[in-house]
Amino acid sequence: MRKIEREKETVRWMIEFYCRKKHKKRSGLCDECDELLKYAWNRLEHCPYGEKKKSCKRCRVPCYAPEKRKAIKRVMGYSAPRMIYYKPLEWMNHLLK
Ligand SMILES: [Zn+2]
Repeated sequence: MRKIEREKETVRWMIEFYCRKKHKKRSGLCDECDELLKYAWNRLEHCPYGEKKKSCKRCRVPCYAPEKRKAIKRVMGYSAPRMIYYKPLEWMNHLLK
């Protein structure tokens, strides 16, 4: 799988997890999270580093608009630590990047 595709799956998982727990959505995403996911995917697809990209956290060209940045930080802050229980392999991958 391409790196970007894997990254997209990770982001999707984190947003879905967050939405399920915080917004009590049983399936799919609420409008807010759906929009955030589309935004995040779009950013990934247009990442200037493409396949050479490192973790977004360490990126020198932060590409998120300020309010989306805040939103994704909130999602990751919640979902990332929990990912280790649900998706240990992806979690390792996320760390190694
Ligand atoms: Zn939601």
